Amino acid sequence: MTSEFALKVGMAIGTFFGNGKILIGCDGRISGPMLKLSLSSGLNASGCDVFDIGLTLTPALQFLVRYLKYDGGIMITASHNPPEFNGIKVIDKDGVELPREKEIKIENIFFNKKFSLASWKRIGKFIEERNHLDLYVNEILSHVNVGLIRKKQFKVVVDPANGVGVLAAPRLLRELNCKVYTINSHIDGKFPGRNPEPTPQNLTALSKVVTATGADLGVGYDGDADRAIFVDEKGQVIWGDKTLALLIKFYLKKNPRATVVTPISSSQLIQDVVQQGKGKLVWTKVGSINMSRKMVEIKAELGGEENGGVCYGAHQPVRDGVMSTALILQTMAETDKPLSTLISELPVYYNYKDKIRCPDDLKGIVLKKLLARVKKLDVETLDGAKIWFPDKSWILIRPSGTEPIYRLFAESKVKDKPQKMVKEYKKIIQEIIGVKSES
Ligand code: MG
Repeated sequence: MTSEFALKVGMAIGTFFGNGKILIGCDGRISGPMLKLSLSSGLNASGCDVFDIGLTLTPALQFLVRYLKYDGGIMITASHNPPEFNGIKVIDKDGVELPREKEIKIENIFFNKKFSLASWKRIGKFIEERNHLDLYVNEILSHVNVGLIRKKQFKVVVDPANGVGVLAAPRLLRELNCKVYTINSHIDGKFPGRNPEPTPQNLTALSKVVTATGADLGVGYDGDADRAIFVDEKGQVIWGDKTLALLIKFYLKKNPRATVVTPISSSQLIQDVVQQGKGKLVWTKVGSINMSRKMVEIKAELGGEENGGVCYGAHQPVRDGVMSTALILQTMAETDKPLSTLISELPVYYNYKDKIRCPDDLKGIVLKKLLARVKKLDVETLDGAKIWFPDKSWILIRPSGTEPIYRLFAESKVKDKPQKMVKEYKKIIQEIIGVKSES
């Protein structure tokens, strides 16, 4: 990721949008401002006006693109990845990531150098725009029962991983009359406090501060704050499938028959709560963009992933960690129960994950042979192969889109079964790969 590369990507994106108004922002990474200026220069050269909001959260930029009626947006972020990474996320005018077909158009402009550059009179403007985080925070507040949450005077610990979540989360919580403690809360592109992925291993400090302060809740965000993982009042890190199930459960109580979207990799827990609440569940391929685009297509009300990405349709059909924080507090306020109790009321499943090396050129044939071997079983082929067993346990075997590996993910009500299932299917995949290499 060099500035020269970003300049050309900016020219390609600008050519695609054709002299529109583009909102641009970045997370706290060191390369953010450099890439932003290069991208903006390319956008200006192709006739687009660029409005720069500086440091921001991905969900805030997405909201502002739609709310303030921009033609598109660019968020410079590498989300939960280590500090040396960065990325360019192009947002369509509806505030959702561009669909793949449009991305391919931009890639074609880039690789074929089919840039359309403006004449000197039509070169775009570069305007420093106000950040408008107030609009974003107020919008989130408009979707929850502020009066009820305020009465509870919750104590909340926020861990934004030295990322941009700190720009909005403490502000929202103070509006909700919470007593707010923060850790890792100065923005630093080197992420000195912790790795920006909110996994249980990375949230041990948060968990300790929750217990030490006697807080009701802890929340850890990823680097751009579209994902949130919660810690209960006992200091236990709650994985995202459980909090998603909780939000779905209480949403369906108020809105029966609502539609929920989730990737095929999600826990059976999600299906259980949707069925119990008489909702409709739609599975998608793995990847948040597939989920968000499906939500737009079928006007779904709720979506989410096990990694802490929740999309609240009434707000926006994209992942928003700050919105999910407000929703968790609302659930705690409405039920008057601590988070640990709410989680203990959900069905329990056990799961296990592993991966196996598989060269990219063998991925297709491996899947074909695997499907032939399991054709008598109940198999869903939306993304890889998800095999269901009569006792509701399942295993998902899917090729990674980015690495030469197959991922295996199993879940069951029986404690040791997922590990056994993963072992069994890992052996089958190994056999398939082995057979291929011998022939
Ligand atoms: Mg993210």
